[in-house]
Amino acid sequence: MKDEEKTTEQLLNELAELRRQVAEMETAETLDVNARKLTEDAVEEARKYAENIVETVREPLVVLDTDLKIISANSSFYRTFKVTLADTVGQILYDLGNRQWDIPKLRVLLEEILPLKTEVLDFEVEHEFLTIGPHTMLLNARRIIRESGRSYLILLAIEDITERRLVEDKLKQLAEELARSNVELEHFASLASHDLKSPVLAIGTLLRLFQRRYTGKLDTEADQFISDARKSALRMEKLISDILAYARAGSQGKTFEPTDCSEALDISLANLKDAVESGKAEITRDSLPKVMGDHIQMVQLFQNLIGNAIKLHGEERPRIHISAKQMEKEWVFSVRDNGIGIPREQTEKIFEIFQRLNKDKYPGSGIGLAICKKIVERHGGRIWVESELGKGSIFYFTIPVMK
Ligand code: ADP
Repeated sequence: MKDEEKTTEQLLNELAELRRQVAEMETAETLDVNARKLTEDAVEEARKYAENIVETVREPLVVLDTDLKIISANSSFYRTFKVTLADTVGQILYDLGNRQWDIPKLRVLLEEILPLKTEVLDFEVEHEFLTIGPHTMLLNARRIIRESGRSYLILLAIEDITERRLVEDKLKQLAEELARSNVELEHFASLASHDLKSPVLAIGTLLRLFQRRYTGKLDTEADQFISDARKSALRMEKLISDILAYARAGSQGKTFEPTDCSEALDISLANLKDAVESGKAEITRDSLPKVMGDHIQMVQLFQNLIGNAIKLHGEERPRIHISAKQMEKEWVFSVRDNGIGIPREQTEKIFEIFQRLNKDKYPGSGIGLAICKKIVERHGGRIWVESELGKGSIFYFTIPVMK
């Protein structure tokens, strides 16, 4: 579309220049007869050339004189607005097709704005035509002063954006419906997981009591059953609380306020204290900026990323570095580790809910990174990972710089 506009623009310029040259030639009075003949040929040639240009422009185009009478129009104009050359040329634009073109906004453009500006671009007009129904048009108009200075021509290019507007409106409506259904879905997931939480907690408690009282009193197979059942109950508990956190991360976050990311990182590391100690993780950090954000969610974001970096360590002890760099209008945060890495073809998939790669080796629910993605997007940023299998990963996320 841009290219097309540019071409039209260039063609209009060329046309204007030609008109100027023709007028120049017309006023040359001292030429002898031969020269005059040559000039007439040149004028004729230029006229044809100009007409060809008008004809080549893909969008509807009309040329008007000072009185807004139509001097010429291209076939795209006739085709789009279902008019013929006979009932167009020589007519005042407003009178065209039983005065269908007497559009108040068009009058404003031609009579009030254009006389002051010589050029008006992307002037939007909506109108219900009797013959072709409602249309949305983008008008580009240019006033070309004739060499004599007494009159001018108006080139009016009309881009019919009716279809584009319909598609845009439809997309907007779909996006709104999607947002609404997402909120409903989050609400449902939030309620369902909230209601599931207490019976699951109760099952866990009962199994713990049962285990304490009966371990060693039944046979070994029974002991194993109880132990497995407890593990499953714990896993279910974690899953439910992660789903709850996921459902709440989108719509139920706190309003944004200036948030010190260094402080948020401190809290997340305090929450991860046991994992850091038992994993003997070495954590280093640069100073982090303040951003407009949800403090609790920033803590959760660092905690999920660092928690994963500790959990998914390789042979060596986990070494993790957290830093942030300003790149134009956003901060790019990074959490780098020396862990097991992620295969290239999985680097996008892992941000989807319930996507886990090393199910048998490492515990998890496959929700942590989906929560991170939701948090970052809620803050107007992006999240991605760069990784080399066996060498480690760097998780990046961006947050807009605070104004
Ligand atoms: P979970 O850790 O609960 O499985 P996540 O959504 O946090 O769920 O992570 C999804 C998957 O992405 C993990 O199962 C793991 O395979 C991979 N992953 C996440 N972080 C890392 C990391 N730092 N190094 C290697 N793999 C990772």
